[in-house]
Amino acid sequence: MTFILKLKPGREKSLLNRHPWVFSGAVQQLDGEPQAGDTVLVRSADGRFLGNAAYSPHSQIRARVWSVVEGEPIDANFFRRRLQTALALRRDLLPASLNGQRLVHGESDGLPGLVVDRYDQVLVVQVLSIGVERWREVIVDALVELTGIPNVYERSDADVRGLEGLPERCGLLRGNLPADTMIDEYGVRYRVDIAGGQKTGFYLDQRVNRRRIGELAAGKKVLNCFCYTGGFSLAALRGGALSVESVDSSAEALATAQANLVLNNLDPAQASWVEADVFKYLRLLRDKGQSYDLIILDPPKFAPTAQHVEKAARAYKDINLLGLKLLKPGGLLATFTCSGGMDASLFQKIIAGAAVDAGLDAKVIERFTPDVDHPVALSFPEGDYLKGLLVKRGL
Ligand code: SAH
Repeated sequence: MTFILKLKPGREKSLLNRHPWVFSGAVQQLDGEPQAGDTVLVRSADGRFLGNAAYSPHSQIRARVWSVVEGEPIDANFFRRRLQTALALRRDLLPASLNGQRLVHGESDGLPGLVVDRYDQVLVVQVLSIGVERWREVIVDALVELTGIPNVYERSDADVRGLEGLPERCGLLRGNLPADTMIDEYGVRYRVDIAGGQKTGFYLDQRVNRRRIGELAAGKKVLNCFCYTGGFSLAALRGGALSVESVDSSAEALATAQANLVLNNLDPAQASWVEADVFKYLRLLRDKGQSYDLIILDPPKFAPTAQHVEKAARAYKDINLLGLKLLKPGGLLATFTCSGGMDASLFQKIIAGAAVDAGLDAKVIERFTPDVDHPVALSFPEGDYLKGLLVKRGL
């Protein structure tokens, strides 16, 4: 039986622009009684076909569009084709030697609510929507078949699942979880804690930016704030940094970071690790009169959605003001936001405000984004979450 979800007059616009979400307020009428995750046919008030979508009864996002092709069945073959397209993008554009890659990036790969990261011989799956939940077994089977990777671990422990009426869930879905999983990023090796690490275990979205920091770090005194398992720290040391001081509030992350240092045969004498709140620690460094050639600020997302932007703006300004003040003349600040609710121009304005308050002349000399394995569908600007600026302090 076909379930039909009819929109209110005038509410078809975003779908015609291929944005994949139908908000509850746009719904006029629902024909039939679809279960959570069932496919519904979305029509405009005047009966136009808009898409086939996954029905989500508990969420503000009442349906997520799978396909805008009329008559395209949503079945195992559909998911296989979408996964093949996503895998082909990475295969064509990333070096095969990169064994840590995001294979599926949700809406931007045409699979709303699905994230798949590959860490060497393990696929880590995050199921964030009820539509993906409904097709989980089919998707996991196709992933194993298409990648040839037998081990699949689920890390569906993200808050957003609650909005979909789904409980958190983690555990092995296929194969085994190897005792140790290691990835190699352009010659730097990182151990990934798949079961216990943050998100799916690692922040793959910063891969190219870690490499760039490695290129910039030679001979420099570096401060890496929000270092997690040592991503930018190790890249900087491998790139010839004189010293790297790394700060994070997570003791587990810092322990892994130190193990990663050993794994890469880097000199522990050049690295120091500090368990602290960055907001407080930066003030301490300022009061001690410290200064650095290169500072990295890669905080967690302060503004998950647009509603949090104002408070987040204050937090970004605070750490960036302190960071700029800790730069030596001519020094570099690599500053990031991974907040979906913060757009690039607002972020740049915040950094500009911080420079004015610091009384410094500074310029943007580069911009950072993730690599091709984190695409942004043009119809889904929300996918453009990670932005960064490389700022140079005047002399
Ligand atoms: N740059 C890292 C990823 C950073 S993720 C990489 O390349 O892998 C953000 C990190 O900030 C997490 O490790 C989290 O533990 C840490 N964190 C969050 N709030 C913090 C705070 N107030 N002070 C210090 N660290 C914090």
